[in-house]
Amino acid sequence: MAWFGAKGHEFETEENGKVFPVNRNAQALLDSLAGAAVENGAALRSSRRVLSIGREVFPGEGTLFTLAVERAAAPESTVSMETYRARRVLIATGGASYPGTGSTGDGYSLAASLGHAIQDPKPALAPIYIEDFHLASHAGLSFKNAGFAVRRGGALVLSRTGDLLITHQGLSGPLILDASAATEAGDTVEIRFSSLGAGQFKTSFETLAAANPRKAVRTLVLELGLPKALAESLCAMAGFGPEDRAADAPRAKRERLCVLACAHPMRIQRVGGFELAMATAGGVALPEVNPSTMESRLVPGLYFAGETLDFVGDTGGYNLQAAFSTAFAAAKGLCLRP
Ligand SMILES: Cc1cc2nc3c(=O)[nH]c(=O)nc-3n(C[C@H](O)[C@H](O)[C@H](O)COP(=O)(O)OP(=O)(O)OC[C@H]3O[C@@H](n4cnc5c(N)ncnc54)[C@H](O)[C@@H]3O)c2cc1C
Repeated sequence: MAWFGAKGHEFETEENGKVFPVNRNAQALLDSLAGAAVENGAALRSSRRVLSIGREVFPGEGTLFTLAVERAAAPESTVSMETYRARRVLIATGGASYPGTGSTGDGYSLAASLGHAIQDPKPALAPIYIEDFHLASHAGLSFKNAGFAVRRGGALVLSRTGDLLITHQGLSGPLILDASAATEAGDTVEIRFSSLGAGQFKTSFETLAAANPRKAVRTLVLELGLPKALAESLCAMAGFGPEDRAADAPRAKRERLCVLACAHPMRIQRVGGFELAMATAGGVALPEVNPSTMESRLVPGLYFAGETLDFVGDTGGYNLQAAFSTAFAAAKGLCLRP
């Protein structure tokens, strides 16, 4: 931030700790980075796609990498081929998610063609689609400190707490995005909408009901902090009419209401694919890369950085940080190599 600040960029930090440029202009940041690279002697070539990377022995020069590169030239959109030779190559082509941003998974095939093992790439940080989703009318509602438990064949696969968002076809928000890579179609999930733990919700509900027998059940649910629209839906699902009072609420319906608020059952229809995932799990196997220099342990002079590697972080900046840190280590490693 100090480096960007010296170049005239201003930042603001949101409540959740995320930092953005005040003018929300990513292009200006990119221009500063690219400008600094050029000032320091780099030649930038854009609108090009590396199709293959080979290794060839050239008399008097030793073994060099040879890159076959496809070049798209505007405005005619004509494509021509170029060949590059290099002593060192850094693969930083990202993952396979959000291909509209250019990351189409090419790094995996390029690395594999040079002998690297690739851990199966999978979409990560993706929304979840729910079978026969019955809460679509609540799309846009978000919940702090919600709960998310996943079961497969009856066994608990994961249980997490975090911020949840209801979408038109299912679930999203940091809680879901972070858990998505560990979920599968067919898994059953239980959602806790209340920020109170399940036990505390039940106890508080029973206490409120005993103290306020004439109050409508849905009013009690509102008092426990659930949004009005959802409180009304949950009460209806539990079999309560809008005016049903706490004094007349049978135990079975009260218990059903607590389950709907704190272990709301759903089944996953599918997990968002690469087109929606914000990151890719899997990639170039880490044991084959020196973590100090990011140089391949198999192919001297070959380096990796960023999401091409087999790691994935939770939401909250960890993926960008991993890309920055591995790129920094790789840049140092490249400078060290004679
Ligand atoms: C919508 C969205 C929101 C996100 N939000 C966050 C967030 O808030 N915090 C966070 O930490 N992470 C976030 N991420 C993830 C983060 O953006 C990535 O982890 C990070 O950008 C990875 O950096 P990278 O340099 O490895 O790859 P990328 O940023 O994907 O860059 C790879 C580059 O390589 C180029 N390329 C690919 N193949 C070739 C080829 N064959 N030849 C030449 N060039 C090629 C691509 O065009 C691209 O420019 C988000 C991702 C998305 C999609």
